[in-house]
Amino acid sequence: MSRTITIRYTNFRECPNCDGRGDDGSSWRPLECKRCKGHGKLVTDVELQDSARGILPRSAYDFNALGEVFLLDFEEDEEIEVIRPADL
Ligand SMILES: [Zn+2]
Repeated sequence: MSRTITIRYTNFRECPNCDGRGDDGSSWRPLECKRCKGHGKLVTDVELQDSARGILPRSAYDFNALGEVFLLDFEEDEEIEVIRPADL
C-alpha cells in the first residue's frame, strides 16, 4: 500500500480584491480576478492527512492563498501520492 497525503482546505476568507465575485464586476466581459483566479475566495488554512504520520504539523508544509500546497522536508525519491481537493 503506497503512502498518501490527502489535502483538505479547512478555512477560507472572501477575496478582498473582488469582494468574492471572482471577477472585476464589469457588466461587459468581466475580467477574472487576478488575486483569487476567479474563485472568489482565498485559502487561509489547510489540513494534511499523511497515511504514515497522521495529521502533519504546520512545519511540514507550506501553502498559498490559491490552495497550492508545498511539502517540506520530504525525500524526493519517496513514493507519495498527493490527493488534492477537486476545487476550492
Ligand atoms: Zn478575487
